[in-house]
Amino acid sequence: MIRELTCVACPLGCPLVATIENGEVVDVKGNTCKRGAEYAKTECTHPVRSLTSTARVNGGSAYVVPVKSSKAMPKEKLFEAMEIINKTSINAPVHIGDVVVPNILGLDVDIVATNEVK
Ligand code: SF4
Repeated sequence: MIRELTCVACPLGCPLVATIENGEVVDVKGNTCKRGAEYAKTECTHPVRSLTSTARVNGGSAYVVPVKSSKAMPKEKLFEAMEIINKTSINAPVHIGDVVVPNILGLDVDIVATNEVK
């Protein structure tokens, strides 16, 4: 099976063509650097995404604080993670990097604040 992708690992956006056999990427063409080949392999076998959202803040100068995942997480877990974040609140003050949800879904990924709330 052939799959066409656009590499998003840098702004150049190289068009990639991945050859998949028995669920494995056996060849990648079109990549300018090896990051493109790694991206194609991950995207075709186990896609991951960074998650960004907001979490509620109790008693702060704002009602919500922007949050993000500390690293990319499996794409199929994003909605489940969002449900947890939507049920979570953190007490003010909030500082950049504060962990809002530790080890979400047991994925070794923290959800952390990306802004301050007094
Ligand atoms: S293959 Fe390399 S140069 Fe091309 S978009 Fe991906 S990271 Fe950038």
